Amino acid sequence: MTKVTRNAPYSAESKNRPPLAIRRVEAIPVSIPLVKPVLMGGGQEFRRSESLVVRIETTNGLFGWGEASAAPTMTGDTLPGMVEAVEKYLAPRLIGQNALDRALLAHRMSQTLIGNTGAKAACDIALHDLAGKHLGVSVTDLLGGRARERVLALAQLGNAKVEQDIAEAKAKQRQGYGFFKLKVGVKPVEQEIESAYTLRKALGPDALLCADANMGMTVASAHKFVAGAAGAGLLFLEQPFRDNDLANTLALARSSAIPLCADESAQNIESIMDWHRTGAIAGVNLKTIKLGGIVETMRAAIVAHTLGLAVNLASKTGESSIGAAALVHLGYTVPNLDWGININNHYLDTDLVKQPLKQKSGSIECPGGAGLGVEVDEDALRRFRVDKR
Ligand SMILES: [Mg+2]
Repeated sequence: MTKVTRNAPYSAESKNRPPLAIRRVEAIPVSIPLVKPVLMGGGQEFRRSESLVVRIETTNGLFGWGEASAAPTMTGDTLPGMVEAVEKYLAPRLIGQNALDRALLAHRMSQTLIGNTGAKAACDIALHDLAGKHLGVSVTDLLGGRARERVLALAQLGNAKVEQDIAEAKAKQRQGYGFFKLKVGVKPVEQEIESAYTLRKALGPDALLCADANMGMTVASAHKFVAGAAGAGLLFLEQPFRDNDLANTLALARSSAIPLCADESAQNIESIMDWHRTGAIAGVNLKTIKLGGIVETMRAAIVAHTLGLAVNLASKTGESSIGAAALVHLGYTVPNLDWGININNHYLDTDLVKQPLKQKSGSIECPGGAGLGVEVDEDALRRFRVDKR
């Protein structure tokens, strides 16, 4: 008689030789100049994009690509730290394993290192690219297929002067954009309130407009902003305070007519549930670099939807079309995308793929083809590689 045993979580391993055995995991750090500086809350100014590209190869000669940006003030990941996380900790756990077992491998990576979600995300995205190529399907199809016909693309505005934001927003509006995210928490709050109204007037009543402070507001300036800008029709205000400042966020939510969105505070499913429970937030910004890849971002999106939270998907400023493609596949498949998607590869002086993802008529086409559906430009990768191997 066959003995019946219960399935333990994440225990399934084939006794046979894996059909898609991982042979090599390569970590490639790159630094790419941006076309123009980007200003963010808390006085941050970005001039270059630092990213980790991961290439995973299997014994049958297939390979997949993944990417995650370094984000010291978002995830705590630094570029050298990401390289070491992959080379010393994650790669040894992946080599010899079946690349098709993405859920199992995501779990193994989460058990190997606390945090380091960027490094995990780059590996997890590469595994999805690889699995899609092996099976001859897109990442969208791997994730269960399309949930929508188009994704609502946000254009991010973060210039030194409001006149530049308006000129850029009007140009984007002519290209078909209808959704804009204004970076705030940078200038004096009175100016930012005025900017919100000036932009609203320039874009008209139908444009969707939101603001992101990247933790850059003081308690006083945030209260002033939500009261002063209440008539500008902002869909939401993202992350006014530090990532762990739930008390002040909750107090702000209670007096604000503008719904609040958590980004730096929404690092994992547990924090999303905790912040939702208090009533401080109406939605979350989800990023693969925070959640640790595609598997965990999809899970977080399902949880957020179940809790009734709106979802905004976003890539880091300057993340190339490799990381952006992963996000777009998620955009087509997550249960809700009420607050749209922003990819930011257009900030790069040079993208890392031959045909960069393009935002068109306020949407982003889902990359076709197997896996991520992007072809990596290996010359560009060599040119911007910072360890010069
Ligand atoms: Mg944000």
